[in-house]
Amino acid sequence: MTLVSTSELVAGARSAGGAAGALNIVTLEHAEAVVAGAESAGLPVVLQISQNCVRFHGGRLAPLARAAVALAEASTVDIAVHVDHVDELAVLQQAGEVAGIGSVMFDGSRLPFDANVAATAGAVEWAHARGLWVEAELGEVGGKPGAHTPGARTDPGQAAAFVEATGVDALAVAVGSTHRMTTRTATLDHALIRALTRAVPVPLVLHGSSGVPDGELRRAIAAGIAKVNIGTALNVAFTGAIRRHLAAEPDAVDPRTYLAEARAAVAATTANLLATLRPPAGATVVSPSASGPGRTGSGGGEGGLGGEADRGGSGGGVDCDGDGDGGRA
Ligand SMILES: [Zn+2]
Repeated sequence: MTLVSTSELVAGARSAGGAAGALNIVTLEHAEAVVAGAESAGLPVVLQISQNCVRFHGGRLAPLARAAVALAEASTVDIAVHVDHVDELAVLQQAGEVAGIGSVMFDGSRLPFDANVAATAGAVEWAHARGLWVEAELGEVGGKPGAHTPGARTDPGQAAAFVEATGVDALAVAVGSTHRMTTRTATLDHALIRALTRAVPVPLVLHGSSGVPDGELRRAIAAGIAKVNIGTALNVAFTGAIRRHLAAEPDAVDPRTYLAEARAAVAATTANLLATLRPPAGATVVSPSASGPGRTGSGGGEGGLGGEADRGGSGGGVDCDGDGDGGRA
């Protein structure tokens, strides 16, 4: 019930038949809210800081990351701290310097395959030497270039070769989700998720999950998705609460009044999201069809996840690009 490694947290979520929720934080209030939501749900969570968020904070990772670590250390649930969608050396280096950060996602997905392999393998070697768990990306997950482009799909054979050649600990795959969706209308390629689960010996990560309905998320987890990145849904809740407050009280001045409401909205959204990613007690747990060095536990039984989440009004936007600053996250 404190700061844990991302590796441990993801393994624990799979053992419980669910997936780890990795929620993007942008401000201290986001971090406080996500921790509060996780505590109210009694479930672990990954606090995720994107490279775009670092850019927003003037290129400095440490202030928000240290706050996240401090919140994790004081929490009643297990919390890991992750740095997301990194493709700049300066940010990667900062991730290795802040004590308590457990993992980093290195994103070479916009590079040609061979260049992605070379860049990722180098990042993995560097990060492993510093004790960091490394996620990478292959294919295109819609909404952003790289594994984030609409219609993009990760090829299972190429994914297996990529993991083998790079030594990554987890792989973000393109299976139909799109970043920054504000409607929950995405349908995933479940046959592809199953094929990737069989082919790839490390946990699979779903990005751009904000646009994915609960039922699709549950099926994806049952098929082998081990980590679900969520950003936009939190920002929909955060900004919606502020917008409502300022509309009702246009003369408001003290930011604490509307930030408190934003924080409460994000906490509620977090609790619902995390419950969605976990099966209720007694649910049937289905083992994945393949196992490997990076995969632990078992897949959740389809339909076994509770907590229909209202992802915060206008369609949610669970997504790892919640910082909304135009780049990848
Ligand atoms: Zn992403």
